Amino acid sequence: MRPLIRRLTARLGLLQGRCPVCGVLRGTDHGPLCPACARDLRPRTGGYCPRCGLFFGAETDEAHLCSDCRLHPRPWDRLHFHGRHDGALRELILAYKFSGGLHLSRLLQDMALAAFERHNESRPDLIVPVPLHRRRLLWRGYNQSLELARRIATRHNIPLDARALVRTRNTVPQTRVEAGERRRNIRDAFRADAASVAGKSVLLVDDVLTTGATLEECAKTLHKAGSSAVDILILSVAQE
Ligand SMILES: [Zn+2]
Ligand SMILES: [Zn+2]
Repeated sequence: MRPLIRRLTARLGLLQGRCPVCGVLRGTDHGPLCPACARDLRPRTGGYCPRCGLFFGAETDEAHLCSDCRLHPRPWDRLHFHGRHDGALRELILAYKFSGGLHLSRLLQDMALAAFERHNESRPDLIVPVPLHRRRLLWRGYNQSLELARRIATRHNIPLDARALVRTRNTVPQTRVEAGERRRNIRDAFRADAASVAGKSVLLVDDVLTTGATLEECAKTLHKAGSSAVDILILSVAQE
């Protein structure tokens, strides 16, 4: 099916029985995806650093802390994610964020939920999505991080608080800023509500980790407001 037709039919909800990624008719026993897309979208299960998501070696290697994370502590403990930010996963996330892809919510929520369940050794007290500035929220109509967080919250009965962390200024999108400038671009852009987060372990949810500057700023803001621990959940890790 041609991409435009696929997008339109998907938006009209006409893809029942079809793979939401490529649009081919799928069999009955592969879940929502056709076998080829299910293969493309397998989660990464090994060969990465569980703190920053750096990929190394083969997927069959065990996950272990990279030397950088051993030397420089990050403001979070565990990073949960689905996979590398390329191929079908990257396309899905871009469609979800920029092409009115709300019909992809369920699929991506399932991935986020599975990523959380693969390593949820400790249950967070609170789930907090990375906030959008209200102007960006008006433009997009939904906060993708909040949508991703919803299913984990309901499935595991964990409170979800989209107001615990707010964006106090509208920054230039990180993707349009040089990697070295991103930390400065996002500095002091968030405020956490101490009454909601103090003494609580927080699962912070976003869609993609690139340089990590946004997540670092959010995690630091939560710690300053008294959070006892922060873990991160994202769909994909982009490495430049
Ligand atoms: Zn497919
Ligand atoms: Zn690392």
